[in-house]
Amino acid sequence: MQPGDMPAPGSQQMPQMQQFSGYEQSGGFGQMAPMAAPPPPPMPSGNPPPMQFASVGQLRQSECQDALLAFAGENCCYSKAPAKEHTVTNTRPSTALHYTLETFCESRTSGYISEPYSGQPINGPGGGAPPPPWSVPVAPDEEFKDHVKKLEVPGTATITPCSRCHQMGFTKCPGCQGVAVLNCTWCHGRGRRNGKMCLQCAGRGQKVCRKCGGDGRVTCELCNGYRQMKCFIQLVVTFKNHLEDHILETTSLPDKLIRDAQGKPIFSQTMPQVWPIAAYPVPEMAQASVRIVESHRTKFPNERRLNQRQVLRGVPVTEVEYTWNETTGRYWVYGEERKVYCPEYPKKCCCTIQ
Ligand SMILES: [Zn+2]
Ligand SMILES: [Zn+2]
Ligand SMILES: [Zn+2]
Repeated sequence: MQPGDMPAPGSQQMPQMQQFSGYEQSGGFGQMAPMAAPPPPPMPSGNPPPMQFASVGQLRQSECQDALLAFAGENCCYSKAPAKEHTVTNTRPSTALHYTLETFCESRTSGYISEPYSGQPINGPGGGAPPPPWSVPVAPDEEFKDHVKKLEVPGTATITPCSRCHQMGFTKCPGCQGVAVLNCTWCHGRGRRNGKMCLQCAGRGQKVCRKCGGDGRVTCELCNGYRQMKCFIQLVVTFKNHLEDHILETTSLPDKLIRDAQGKPIFSQTMPQVWPIAAYPVPEMAQASVRIVESHRTKFPNERRLNQRQVLRGVPVTEVEYTWNETTGRYWVYGEERKVYCPEYPKKCCCTIQ
């Protein structure tokens, strides 16, 4: 291959890369390969720490009526009359429970990367073997939040000549194939058009190649003209927050609405391996916690577990029965912010004259 000849696209030439202990599984250039995760931390032993469960207040009837009025006000097409005039015949206050377990993990991949080398000091193999993939310290920017961090594995950087330009720093111009001039497209190289001198090329029949400015060469796209490449192993650390929840809601309110409603904390705990809230006095919730905590122990075998957080919240829900204008109906007021669920609001369009 001559200097300036382009390698075929996709056939990124890979020089004989230095191999490093612990990184035998690394992917080739630009190909990240997963690094097998270390074993999970041992199970905690002994008794779970004492757990205190807070209690949650409930909504008064007048608060429910106010909430329905606010709800009607938010929907511009709803008449306020039913909200103002309805008679509450029964209220059933309850507390929905929302349990969440988050398991915060990281996975690591590595692969060779190359970039133009501009002469800066490098962290090469001279200083001993690189740290094993799981020993490279990488702290998350924020716990319990998905994000990705990339870094160079220390001790793996080497300098290689650029394979595309053979250390010339430039390649043959693809616009003119190195000839530097092109036939004028207006006069097709004749210099004259319609019997007159071609104004586009001033009669020369040729124009200077714009891509290379008449040089016939362009700066090498691979090394940016630096002639050398720095190759190193890149470590890609993917932080992932696995969230699983359970909602216990006993009225006809759709359970999923509880997920985004504000509640009061009943219990929360953050530690590398949480204890399920097996002692919680509501058996279904205690069992859900045991099941979810148990499943997260083995659910992410290719990831290293970093931390866990469990939260139990109580969300007030009041089911209200009412009469208005000889009709009866139900609505629900839920959440600390007093959201209203009222799919059959009696007078949805105030424009209609009844
Ligand atoms: Zn180059
Ligand atoms: Zn050119
Ligand atoms: Zn011309």
